Amino acid sequence: MMAQYLEIKAGHADCLLFYRMGDFYELFFDDAVKAAATLDITLTRRGKHMGEDIPMCGVPIHAADGYLARLIRAGHRVAVCEQQEDPAAARARPGKQPVRRDVVRIVTPGTLTEDALLDARSHNHLAALGRAEGALALAFTDVSTGDLAVETVPEGGIQAALARVAPRELLVADRWLDAPFLDALDPADRDTITPLPLARFDSAGGERRLKAVLEVEALDGFGAFTRAELSALGALVEYVSLTQKGRMPALKAPRRAQAGEVMAIDPATRRNLELATGPGGGREGSLLAAIDMTVTGPGARLLAAWAAAPLTDPERIAIRHDMVEALVSAESVRAGLRGHLRACPDLQRAVQRLALGRGGPRDLAAVRDALELAPDIADLAVQAAAAGAGVALPPDGLARAAAVLRGHGALADALRAALAQEVPLLARDGGFIVPGHDAELDAQRTLRDEGRRLIAALEGRLKAETGIASLKVRHNAIIGYHVEVPAAHAEKLSRDPNFIHRQTMAGAMRFSTGELADLAQALAQAADRALAREVALFDDLVAAVLRTVQPIALAAEALALVDVVAALAELAVVRRWVRPRLDDSRSFAVAGGRHPVVEAALIRSNAPAFVANDCHLSDEARIWLLTGPNMAGKSTFLRQNALIAILAQMGAFVPAASAHLGIVDRLFSRVGASDDLARGRSTFMVEMVEAAAILNQAGSRALVILDELGRGTATFDGLSLAWASVEHLHEVNRCRALFATHYHELTALATKLKAVRLHTMKVKEWQGTLRFLHEVTPGAADRSYGIQVARLAGLPAAVIQRAQAVLEQLERGREGSAVTQMIDDLPLFAAAKAQQTAPAPAAAGPSAVEEALAQLDLDDLSPRQALAELYRLKALAHR
Ligand code: ATP
Repeated sequence: MMAQYLEIKAGHADCLLFYRMGDFYELFFDDAVKAAATLDITLTRRGKHMGEDIPMCGVPIHAADGYLARLIRAGHRVAVCEQQEDPAAARARPGKQPVRRDVVRIVTPGTLTEDALLDARSHNHLAALGRAEGALALAFTDVSTGDLAVETVPEGGIQAALARVAPRELLVADRWLDAPFLDALDPADRDTITPLPLARFDSAGGERRLKAVLEVEALDGFGAFTRAELSALGALVEYVSLTQKGRMPALKAPRRAQAGEVMAIDPATRRNLELATGPGGGREGSLLAAIDMTVTGPGARLLAAWAAAPLTDPERIAIRHDMVEALVSAESVRAGLRGHLRACPDLQRAVQRLALGRGGPRDLAAVRDALELAPDIADLAVQAAAAGAGVALPPDGLARAAAVLRGHGALADALRAALAQEVPLLARDGGFIVPGHDAELDAQRTLRDEGRRLIAALEGRLKAETGIASLKVRHNAIIGYHVEVPAAHAEKLSRDPNFIHRQTMAGAMRFSTGELADLAQALAQAADRALAREVALFDDLVAAVLRTVQPIALAAEALALVDVVAALAELAVVRRWVRPRLDDSRSFAVAGGRHPVVEAALIRSNAPAFVANDCHLSDEARIWLLTGPNMAGKSTFLRQNALIAILAQMGAFVPAASAHLGIVDRLFSRVGASDDLARGRSTFMVEMVEAAAILNQAGSRALVILDELGRGTATFDGLSLAWASVEHLHEVNRCRALFATHYHELTALATKLKAVRLHTMKVKEWQGTLRFLHEVTPGAADRSYGIQVARLAGLPAAVIQRAQAVLEQLERGREGSAVTQMIDDLPLFAAAKAQQTAPAPAAAGPSAVEEALAQLDLDDLSPRQALAELYRLKALAHR
C-alpha cells in the first residue's frame, strides 16, 4: 500500500494527498504534519518507512468538506485519491494487492464547486494571465457556474483588471514571475498565484485546447481572439481539465470584453470608495452590502459583477434601467417575482456539479425546482411592462429573459415524476426515486423490504422461543444484523448452540444465528440491487439534464438577471432613488444627492436624516473646490458623487432627486490616507503614487475625486502640490473633478482658472461650539475650525488654549508674508500652458522698465552712464 501511496504522491508533489482508506481520507508524511497543524487534529504514526515512523492523520469522509475548506483557505491544494474498485474485487485478484486507487480531482481555491466550500453570494473566479506578441490578456472562469471571459489588458492595467475580477487563484507562467510587467502586482494578488510551466501558455496550443473544449472547428463565431487572449484561455481550460481529471464543467461561450466597455476603476479607487469590501475588510459597510437586496445566490453574484464593472455605453445601460423602471412601477409583479425567486435554488452551481460528475440527488432536485418556477417567473417578467409604465411590450431585457425561461417543461416533468420531494445529498444514500416510477426498482425494493419484514418477524419468533422479552434484532455498520440481549440473559443464549457469540458490551451481549445471517445476506443483496438500480436511474436523469445544459445555463442566467433587476427596483422604491439620465455629454448634474451607505447607516441608527446635496459639474464648471471644517461632510459628499456615477452606470437607480450624468469612462478617487507598509510605502508616498496615477491618466471623460491632497507632508509642500495639481487637472486633464481641501489659499485659484467653482460646507458657530449642517453651498470657508473640532473630540483644555495662542501667532505671521499673493504672482502652470490649445490670453502692454530698456542704445554708453542707467531702471521697477 505504501508503494502505491508513494507512487501517487510523486505525481502530485505540490498537493496534500487525501488518500482514501475505507471511511477516511488519510494523510501521511509531511502532508500529515501540515494538515494536522492547519486542522488542529491529532497526528499519529503508522508503520515505518526506511526505519522511521510514518506520521499520519485522517479526516472522516462525511466531514471531509469542512476540512477541505479549511485547508484551501490556508493556501493548500489537495489531491483527492479515491478507491477505484470494490475492496472485494482487490481481494479476489491473485497476489496480495491493495485496492486500486487514483486521484479523481485536485482541489484548488479557484476550482471549487461544493456549496460547503463556496460563498453562495460571491463568484469564485479562476484567472489566467496570457502573453503573446508583447500584449497581455486576462482570461477568467467560474468553474462553479461555467462563466468564461477574456480581455486584453493594456500596459500597466493588470492590477486594475485583477481588482475587478478578484480571482481566488491566478495562473501565471513560472518564467514571468519576476518580469517587469508583474512588478505592480499587489502582495494580496501575488498570494493567489499558481505558477505553471511556460509551455501551457503557448497560444497555438491554447487555440487547439479551446477548440476541443468548446467542440468547434473554428473559434471565429466567438470573436477574433488575439494571441495573448488564446494564451490565457488555453492555459485556463487546460488547468481546469487537469484539476478535474479530464471532466469539464459546462463552459459557456467565452465572452470577449471590448476595450473601454466598462468604467475603468483602479484598485486604489475601489478600496477608497469601499465598493465591495467595507472598512473592516469584509463585505459589511461596502457599497455592495448597502445595495444588495437580491434574494438568490446567483442574483447576488450577478449584482456584484455589475457593481464591479459599470458600463460605458448609454444604450446598454438603458436596457438595464428600462428593466428596473418597469419593475419599479409594477409593485405586485415585483413582489410576486421576488416571492418565486426566494424559493428558487442555485441552478448554475447545481448544473455544474452534475456536469463535473460530483452532483447528487439534491442537485437534480434543484434543477427540478428552478425549472418548475421558471414559467411563472417568465409570465411575471412579461407582465411587468403592461402593469408598469403603460407600455404594451416588456423591456427588451425582460422579454429575452422570459423567452429563455420557457421550454423546459419536459425536463421539469421528468424530474418531478422521478424524484421524491425530500432527497439525500448523495446518490449512494438512495431513497430519492419515488415508488411507482420504475418497475425494476420497485421489485428490488419489495425484496429488500420483504427481507426487513422477515427479520422483524424473526425477532418476534426468537423472543417467544427464548422467553427473553427484551431480546432485540439490531443492525450496525461493523457486525451487521445481530441479536442483542441484556447481560442478565446472556448466559442462557451462550449455552444455546444456535447462538454464536459476537460481542460483549457493557450491559449487553450480541449474537448471531444461521437463519439471521441468511436473511441478512438476502436482504443485503436486494438492497444492493435496489441501490444499484437507483444509481443507474440517477445517472439517466443527470444525462437528461446535461443534454440540454446550454439552454439550462441560459435560463439560470435569466433567473439571476430577473433577481438583480427586481432587487434594484425594490431598492429604488424603498430608498426613493431615481432613474438617472445618461448621455455622452460632460454634465454631472445631481440634485439632492445622498450617500447610499452613510444614509442607510443613519436610518438604521435613528440618527437625524441625511442632508441631501447638489453637485453641478459641466464643461464650464468642471472643478469644484470644496472647503470646510473637519467633520463637516466633505469626504461624504465627494464619495457620494463617485458612488452615484457607479450606480448609474451599473444600471441601478441613484440616491438623488434627479441626476443627469455624462458617461464617465474612468473613475479616480484619492480619499483618506493609509500606509502601505507591506510594500514599504509611507502614507505620503501612497498618496503621491495615487495622485500620480490620476494626473497622468485622467482623460476628459474621467471623474476625479481628490480629498485633501498633500495633507501627508509639511504645510507648504502640501499646499504647493495641491495647487499645482488643481492647475494640472484644469489645464491638462480637463476632466470633471471634486477637490476637497483645508488649504484656504487654494480658493484664490478660482479667480485664475475659469472652470473652477468654490463650494463650502456650512457650519454654525454658536457660543464657541460648532454645529455641522452638512450642507454644500457656493463660496469658501473662512477658516479651518480644526481647533474647535479638536475641542469637540475632547482634547485637554490646556492643549486647546495653547493651540489657539499658537494659531494666532502663525496667522499674524502669514498675513505679513502674503502667501497667496506670492503664489499668485507665479506664472500659471507654465508647462501646462504650452500644451493648452485655447488661445493665450492677450498680453498686457509693455511695462515702464521694458519701454526704458527698449530705448537704450548700449553701444553708446560709457561705463559710468551704464551704472546710472541701472540705477534708473531699478527705480522704475519699484514704482
Ligand atoms: P474630515 O476632514 O475630518 O475627513 P469631512 O469633512 O470629510 O471630515 P466626513 O467624514 O465626510 O467629513 O463626515 C463626517 C460625518 O458627518 C460622517 O461620518 C457622517 O456621519 C456625517 N455626515 C456627513 N455628511 C452628511 C450629510 N450630508 N448628512 C448627514 N450627515 C452627514
